[in-house]
Amino acid sequence: MTENTETLRRSAVITGSSRGIGRAVAEKLAAAGYDVCVNCSSERGLADAQALADELASAHGVRAIAKAANVADAAEAQALIDAAHEAFGRIDVLVNNAGITRDGLAVRMKEEDFDAVINVNLKGTFNCCKAAAQRMMKQRYGRIVNMASVVGVSGNAGQANYAASKAGVIGLTKSLARELAARNITVNAVAPGFIATDMTDELSDKQRNAIAERIAARRFGEPEEVAALVRFLASSGSGYITGQVICIDGGMAL
Ligand code: NAP
Repeated sequence: MTENTETLRRSAVITGSSRGIGRAVAEKLAAAGYDVCVNCSSERGLADAQALADELASAHGVRAIAKAANVADAAEAQALIDAAHEAFGRIDVLVNNAGITRDGLAVRMKEEDFDAVINVNLKGTFNCCKAAAQRMMKQRYGRIVNMASVVGVSGNAGQANYAASKAGVIGLTKSLARELAARNITVNAVAPGFIATDMTDELSDKQRNAIAERIAARRFGEPEEVAALVRFLASSGSGYITGQVICIDGGMAL
């Protein structure tokens, strides 16, 4: 069953959707009938983003565009939301998925590595929320899903910058949920554990096996499993859930 009806086509912006979890979310939402805006920041990513948009348009009969924008830059984030609004006439769903890591122990962490992670993961989420919420408030409808991480709840040695950025995303999610609920806009966070993407590809087999030992399900998650959760939170049927952080980690943080 699709989310769209003949009278109202719903649309979604998914940041960082040229690959990984964001790509799976774009695929899942397009399959559910949403018009989608695929995003990334790099030139290399843009070719993948455009190819994905073309593929989704022809496979599902939805409108799909690709737009390069660095979400850490407020003007570029605004241009991303404006481009989607111009293409689709409304912004129903924003999935703030773009994220990076620059791991290292805090005592040795370079200032630029701290700043880069906070700027993309936290400020980028704020920039897109701000631009999209202005449109959603006028529509009196919206669904915002922010990609946090279990380490934003638990902390993680070697990821002070990343964990702080994701803890910030959780605080931002709860604050925006309070600000926007009366306008029929929900804001929730998804907190994945270890998911098999480029981000976790850097791990050695030894590290991967050691991590899997700590996961009740004894395996990494798949991007499609995260996308299924995002799809529910993005749907009109999830309207009484807001300000929540939903872990999807195979029982790792139990
Ligand atoms: P990924 O495979 O590395 O993909 C990241 C995506 O974000 C790419 O499309 C990338 O494209 C884009 N991106 C990076 N910086 C950007 C920027 N400044 N502006 C716009 N787009 C940008 O990552 P992933 O593993 O799918 O992770 C997606 C999200 O889930 C992230 O927020 C991550 O922190 C979170 N998460 C992942 C895991 C995991 O285990 N994989 C666990 C918990 C949380 P370009 O490189 O072209 O910019």
